[in-house]
Order: sequence, then structure tokens, then C-alpha cells
Amino acid sequence: MKHRLFSDLEKRGESDLLVLPFWEGGKEAASIGALKGKVAAALKTGDFKGKKGELMVVYWEGEKEPRALLLGLGKAGDATPESMRRAAASAVRWAQGKKVKSANFIVPKTAVEAFFEGILLANYAFAELKGTSLKENPMVLLDSVGLVGVEKSDESVLEKLTTIGEGVFFARDLVNGNADDITPKKLAETAQALAKRSSRLKATIFDKKKLEQEGMGLILAVNRGSSTDPYLIQLAYHGDPKSKEHIVLVGKGITYDTGGLSLKPTDNMMTMKCDMSGAAAVLGAVRVAEALGLKVNVTAVVPSTENSIDGKSYKLGDVYRAYNGKTVEINNTDAEGRLILADAMSYAAKHLKPTCMIDIATLTGSVVIGLGEEIAGLFSPNDRLAKDLLEASEKTAELLWRLPVHGDYRDSLKSDIADLLNTGPGRDAGAIKATLFLQEFVGDVPWAHIDAAGPCFLTKPKHYHTTKATGYGVRLFIQFLEQRSS
Ligand SMILES: [Zn+2]
Repeated sequence: MKHRLFSDLEKRGESDLLVLPFWEGGKEAASIGALKGKVAAALKTGDFKGKKGELMVVYWEGEKEPRALLLGLGKAGDATPESMRRAAASAVRWAQGKKVKSANFIVPKTAVEAFFEGILLANYAFAELKGTSLKENPMVLLDSVGLVGVEKSDESVLEKLTTIGEGVFFARDLVNGNADDITPKKLAETAQALAKRSSRLKATIFDKKKLEQEGMGLILAVNRGSSTDPYLIQLAYHGDPKSKEHIVLVGKGITYDTGGLSLKPTDNMMTMKCDMSGAAAVLGAVRVAEALGLKVNVTAVVPSTENSIDGKSYKLGDVYRAYNGKTVEINNTDAEGRLILADAMSYAAKHLKPTCMIDIATLTGSVVIGLGEEIAGLFSPNDRLAKDLLEASEKTAELLWRLPVHGDYRDSLKSDIADLLNTGPGRDAGAIKATLFLQEFVGDVPWAHIDAAGPCFLTKPKHYHTTKATGYGVRLFIQFLEQRSS
């Protein structure tokens, strides 16, 4: 999507639609000059009150657009960046419904970034898997937007947001794709393709043979029932070679999760192509960090396999050996995410000299029961890291809520025959127990765990998330990396 800036209303170019934002009560949120008269009659009807997300179309003649869309922003005093993102997004989604290709937006001065971000993030569709229905009902996105009232000095931040948006779409595309297409190999090739585009990125791929040599017994165990090979993918960006700081982002890359022998019921399996959302987020974040030239050193680490079912599937009651030598008795093959993360994190802790490590995973149903699908659980024994991530969450509205890493529950992971069980028996505190399991594999590296089973893949599209896959984590991580780089 291209954008053009128009410092004042008169100078705007022609387009299919003009979006006019109003506060609740009918007061315009930015100067609309002489257009006031043109919408006065519509406002007078009382049909449009400027409530949050309210829309009303006005047709007119003699303007640069054939129609205007009155957009409600809600009460001026209640406005937040997120409410502005959502409002802008609702106009974009209306435009998509009308197959509008270009639109001018009058942008409230106090919310240029949020408004533009809402436009950008909503201007996304995933049409790759549409067949004949695409011909009958083609998806039309905005090709270009005109931003009225936005100054040239805002241009650099708009460019930055565009780059971040591309990273979000990159992650959404990976998650929305068929699990049969977005395989572990495909994720590895995606990292390699990114590294090929830029000399500042380096991809290191461990194939099955290398995983065997390294003794990554947990990734290999999970992979046993799958007809596709597992990979450990690293994508490194060194934007600040003089600094010793090295942030490692580990993303769960289960490209499809049947649950294994602890087979999921149909309903629970329906969404399981999304179980590599963590992988998509960390690869997306490194891609954007490079594109923005952030002064940070960051490496994405992605353990990737399917968790499938087969005669060779890894078995309940059997014990498998992790990369760091710990042995794990399996009491639930559907708790596979923590197993592959364990090998990846212990490898990263030993070899990548991380100054901090953050993992993101669609890990437990338990966290969704607690926080719902809009909020991810944040677990960290490190207060500074938690504080920084919460700050990034606040800025991006990629929501996090800190939950306790309560060590007393570690007893539930005790096994009679191995060092650990992979899940604590019982349904209580499942997300905390998963965190305690992971903690066994991070050594003394400052570490945070994000259980994003909720927000990575919604039950239905909403706001600026126009598909179920949201690309959650990319914006959060970029904000975090920016905080660390300054
Ligand atoms: Zn699972």
C-alpha cells in the first residue's frame, strides 16, 4: 500500500473514498474545512453520533471522491492509541467491503501513528487458498491512501510502521498457510531466503542428521511420528557488532499438532496449523529488525517439527534425553511444545551467549482459560525483563499479563524413573507448570516466557486482525528491541 501526504484538505488527490473522523457528539476530530457544510445535513439527522467504530456513508458531488465515510472515534477523553487503530481499521474494512482501491483519510493530529498503523494492519487478506470463489468475489485491498493533515516530518515514522507491518504480514502469511505447505523445511527455507536477501542476516540450519549428532533427543522424539524431517533454525542479525548484548528469541515451530498418541479431538485439532505462530513471530521480528537497521544483536531460534501420529510416534511412559542431558518421562505427547523448546533453549543458552532469552509459544490451553484469547501470559523470574516486555506490550497493545513462576509447583513434574515429567498431573496451573518445565533448560540466562496460545490465532477476525492469524509478537518484539537499542 502506497501512501501520500497532503498537508491540507484542498491539496488532496482524487480517490474512491474520503474518511472523516468524528468524536462522539459529532465534533470533528480534525479540521474538515468547507466539507462541514456538505455533511451537516447527514449529521443533523442524528443517525450518526460518532460512537466508537460507528460508520455512516455520505454521497456527494463535486469533491475529489464520490463518497465520504463518517467515522466514529468515541469520546475524545477516552481515546487511546489502540482505540484509534481500531477505528481506522473499521474504515478500512468498510472500504474492503465496497471494493474501494484508494482512500483519503483525514488524520487526527494527535494520533497520526496509531491511525496509520490501524489502516496498515487492517489492509491485509489471505487469498492464497481461495479457489473459484475468488473469481466471483475478489478481495480488494487499498492500493494507496492519502493522509490529509499529516506533515512531511512524520514520513520517517510512517515508513517505519510500514516496514513493521510487512513483518506482521509475513508472520500472518506463515500462520494462515496450509500446514502441508508451511512445513519445518519451508520454515528453514524461509530463514535462508531472508538471509540471502541481506548480508546482515545469517541463517544456520540444523537438519535431522545434525540434530542426532548434537543429541537433541526431545525434538527428535516429537518428530518420530512425522513424515517430514525436523529442523533447528537460527536467523541472526548483528546490528550492533560492538555490543556484547545478544537477545535470543526462541519461537515454537510445531507446524501441525495432532497431539501425537495423546490425540486431540477434532475440534481442538482444527486450528493446529497455528502451532508455529511463535516461530513466525521471531522470524518476523528479526526480519524487521534488519530492515529497520536497529542497533541490536538478535537471533531467532526455531525448533520445528510436526507432532504427528504414526507407528513410530514417541510413547507415553517412555523416557527421552534432552540436549542438556536431562531425561524426560512423557505423560502427555500433546505437551510437545515445551520439549522442542527445551532442546532449542538449552542449545542457545550454551552456544549463543545470550544476555537475555525470550521464548514465545502457543503453549497451553490453560493460559487461554485464564486470560482469554486477547492476552498472552508473561512469565519471568527476571523483573527487569518482565518490566521491559510489559512496557512494549503497553505501547503496541499486543497484550501481556504477568503470571507467577511459582516454584512450589515444580514438585508436580517429578518422575519416578526420569529427571522430569513433561506435564504435571491434573489440570491446575498448567501454564505455570509448563513454565517451570522450560526453566529447567535455560540455565542462568535472564529469561522470559510468553505463552501466546490466545492472541496468535483468534476464533474469528476482529479489529485490525482481518484473518484469524494476527502476527502477534512481531510488533511487541520490535518495540522491545527498540527499547533495548536506545
Ligand atoms: Zn500439543
